[in-house]
Amino acid sequence: MNGCSSSILKTLRLKNPKLLLLESCSNLSDLKIIHGHMVRTHLVLDVFVTSRLIALCVGTPLFKNAASSLVYALKAFSQVPSPNLFMYNALIRGCSDCENPERSMALYIDLCRLGLVPDNLTFTFLIKSCTRLFSLVSGSQSHCQALKRGFDGEVHVQNSLLHMYSSLEDVEAAGRIFRSMKFLDVVSWTTMISGFCKCGDVGSARRLFDRMPERNMFTWSVMINGYTKAGRFEEAIELFELLQQEGVKASETVMVSVVSSCGHLGALELAERAYNYLITNGLSLNMTLGTAVVEMYARCGSIDEATRVFEELRERDALTYTALIAGFAMHGHVQKALHYFSKMLDAGIVPRDITFTAILSACSHGGLVGKGKEIFDNMKRVYGIEPRLEHYGCMVDLLGRAGKLEEAEKFVLEMPMKPNAPIWGALIGACRIHRNAKIAERIGKILIQLLPEHSGYYVLLSNIYAKANNWEGVNIMRGMMKDKGVKKEPGCSAIEINGKMHRFVMGDKSHPDIHKIEKKWEEIVMKIRLVGYTGNTDEALFDIDEEEKESALHRHSEKLAIAYGIMKIGAGAPIRIVKNLRVCEDCHRATKLISKVFNRELIVRDRNRFHHFKDGACSCLDFW
Ligand code: ZN
Ligand code: ZN
Repeated sequence: MNGCSSSILKTLRLKNPKLLLLESCSNLSDLKIIHGHMVRTHLVLDVFVTSRLIALCVGTPLFKNAASSLVYALKAFSQVPSPNLFMYNALIRGCSDCENPERSMALYIDLCRLGLVPDNLTFTFLIKSCTRLFSLVSGSQSHCQALKRGFDGEVHVQNSLLHMYSSLEDVEAAGRIFRSMKFLDVVSWTTMISGFCKCGDVGSARRLFDRMPERNMFTWSVMINGYTKAGRFEEAIELFELLQQEGVKASETVMVSVVSSCGHLGALELAERAYNYLITNGLSLNMTLGTAVVEMYARCGSIDEATRVFEELRERDALTYTALIAGFAMHGHVQKALHYFSKMLDAGIVPRDITFTAILSACSHGGLVGKGKEIFDNMKRVYGIEPRLEHYGCMVDLLGRAGKLEEAEKFVLEMPMKPNAPIWGALIGACRIHRNAKIAERIGKILIQLLPEHSGYYVLLSNIYAKANNWEGVNIMRGMMKDKGVKKEPGCSAIEINGKMHRFVMGDKSHPDIHKIEKKWEEIVMKIRLVGYTGNTDEALFDIDEEEKESALHRHSEKLAIAYGIMKIGAGAPIRIVKNLRVCEDCHRATKLISKVFNRELIVRDRNRFHHFKDGACSCLDFW
């Protein structure tokens, strides 16, 4: 027995000061000793003292192992002949925080059976347990119980109901509670905002946010994160600017959302501002934030900066490494991706399944078939990670890109799970690169079944039939497209000028400078024609892209973005463009020539990867 315990015992013997002794107890083993003495001296029969013992057991943060303390409390409780409400409340509270919150329900039923009358605390923690259980049914039942007993108007109960309905995405019920609440504090407002954000209704969330009398850091964090999750990245950044204007210092959590928004937008200037904010405000680049920054720079096309930040981080985990490796993959730097992958293994960091997605996609972009196969085999054998569909997709892409189409098809047919559309899509993409109409036709048919809404595959098959003079086939495809009302996703390219995103959508003339931009594009075309640009040539056969064919009036959006970049961005500075779809062959050809004629570096992020255009060539080596 240690000194502390013996002195406690001494006090117990000398004074028997029931409570004082219990309250001074700071760990479970001391508490057990005291409990033992209470049993021997029949002190356990004192309901008040035993209540305190139970409450102490479940509610003291000093007790490091909350789970075993709770188990002990439940054991002590089971020996109490006639437990009171105080004990039940303490235990329901304890259960609401533990691994098995469903115990709270059993305790509640038990206390009702004994004829005890629950109070507001009972319901507060009972409802919290339902939230932890993700059970809307139990939650509504508890709500009914609170209503029946007249506690549904009590502020703590209301707050926990609000939290329950918001967390479980019943935003209507949450709204009813919110409107009925007489006392709304910053927590209630934030909970309601978070409920709206969870359902993706950021508009309603923002309206409440603007109406709030006061906000705390958590409120800002919920709202900014809500925008990021909803893919409304610019609004996330605007709100971050508002936060700065109001003189509030952003937390690390807020910055993770901001940094990730900059990365999604591919806005390097905004990214740099966000990074400077972190540095000047002394925010620590912990693992999550550090990883987000690495990913942000990689996605903004600055892989060097991503590497520099990565090297300066004090701590890195598998996700940090994965962010950098995925960055190298997107930029087509396969050797660097492999280098950091082995560095990660040397550092004793166990790769996660997404690490393999990143490294396999790097091998695929780099055409390293052997290496890719080796890594894929090691996944399960060495690291015990069962390959998922994504990993199979990477392998199909790897084999397909390298021209091993038959092997890739065989690989798909022998997969242990049913191949999904992206897998077949990877294979058909390879058919496009290697111009293999035979396999493409086979797979096109499968893809039309799987993705009837995707226009590209009808177009592909119709083109293949046309080439083979199979006009019946062409008509069938055209008819199917019409029947299904297949629509193409509009192509959209964005360019950042002075921290503001300018967006060009094919066929949309709403940009204020659109006439100047179109004139500029005509000028550009004249210049690149002199070095051999011929405009849209016939590549119809393998056109499986989602984008509409362009015409003189409807240009692909990146052409306008490039023209605008040449107008607005000073000579010598690279032009960075982010596009939602895959770059088509014509735009790719034109951009290569522009990089040469205008002596400009152009960095284009498309759906699949980065293209660095320089001196008339592209980093993808025309395979993308
Ligand atoms: Zn194009
Ligand atoms: Zn390229």
